[in-house]
Amino acid sequence: MSQVSNLDLIFLGPPGAGKGTQARKISAKYNIPQISTGDLMRASVLSGTPIGKKLKKYMSSGVLVPDELVLEILLDRLEESDCQYGFVLDGFPRTVPQAETLANALIKKKSPISAVISIEVPDEDITKRLTARRNCKCGASYHLEFLKPKVEGVCDYCGKKLFQRKDDTKEVIENRLCIYHKQTAPLIDFYQKQKNLYPVDGKKKIEMIFSEICDIINKLDSL
Ligand code: AMP
Repeated sequence: MSQVSNLDLIFLGPPGAGKGTQARKISAKYNIPQISTGDLMRASVLSGTPIGKKLKKYMSSGVLVPDELVLEILLDRLEESDCQYGFVLDGFPRTVPQAETLANALIKKKSPISAVISIEVPDEDITKRLTARRNCKCGASYHLEFLKPKVEGVCDYCGKKLFQRKDDTKEVIENRLCIYHKQTAPLIDFYQKQKNLYPVDGKKKIEMIFSEICDIINKLDSL
């Protein structure tokens, strides 16, 4: 386990690029929390609260949850004490206004974004990946062919039963990809202009991508 001070990371990329898988590994190595707005909101949906019911409506069809709602959830989470030395954001920001609000919040904390890791995977690979994805409530995700759990259908980390996300069906995936290109991909340009963007090839093997991301982080630390 390594510790780098104030490591504020963003993982950018289309759904199914491997953001969650890599964020989980980086979280363990650098001892910073992985924050997935998708996971936070799925937990809220499962709790069946009025806000959860509202979120479900957007999430099940693959459209983005309105910025105000996501921002409230995310900014609250960043206030928690485990974020004091940094965090790895997975699935946030997804729009330019989200990125701007986050930047302003971090200016107040004097802890700007350290790096935005952009995991690049072509659209044609995404549908194949997502239809074979299986998830666990604990946030872990698997692939039926390339990242199998040790015991079929059971999470390696917590032993719970794996499930297929309702939005990992072909029709919803197409919608999510379309929304990604329209609303989220402009963030690549946004962070490139800030000289904060580090692209990695998401088609490589998981361990290879992980090692490239660690190299990027370790170089940041020596700047
Ligand atoms: P994910 O688990 O990151 O694939 O997110 C699943 C769904 O949650 C998305 O399709 C959106 O409906 C919603 N969601 C997650 N993060 C965000 C975000 N930053 N902004 C808006 N909607 C989000």
